[in-house]
Amino acid sequence: MSIDSFEKRDIIEMLTEDGLDLRQNYGDREYYTCLCPFHDDRNPSFVVYPDIQRWTCWSCKPGWHDIIDYFRVKHGWDFVTARDFASTPLTDDEMLERHLKTQQLEGTIDMLHLTNRMHNLVELLGVYEARVVFQRIDQLLSQDRWIEAERLLRENGV
Ligand SMILES: [Zn+2]
Repeated sequence: MSIDSFEKRDIIEMLTEDGLDLRQNYGDREYYTCLCPFHDDRNPSFVVYPDIQRWTCWSCKPGWHDIIDYFRVKHGWDFVTARDFASTPLTDDEMLERHLKTQQLEGTIDMLHLTNRMHNLVELLGVYEARVVFQRIDQLLSQDRWIEAERLLRENGV
């Protein structure tokens, strides 16, 4: 499975699950603080910025670190173990949905590409069968049901 098929979970959620007592603060942006788990800390110096999904400890771990660094240092895990723990595998449908959303956002849903696939469908199914699928796809597209349209094309082999 490629890294694209994983989604990183939220750093605040994971640190909280790991037992850190994070407090929410607002400066020029949102951040969280708690006593640092890596040194004998009396004033919270462990800081997490959710917008960049990074943490630092002003006293003992300068620089910006991600959740994978945290798990490696805290639990002694290797990179792959930490990465897999910090990630949720996506289902095929979630990956397809994300792919289509990205395309839609980028405005690159390509009607020419769609037309080419429709032509392939005719070659595969014959004119009559293909027409039934076309009508269904037309209907789905007119309702902005892109994912179902995409799935229908894939189910028919194009
Ligand atoms: Zn520290």
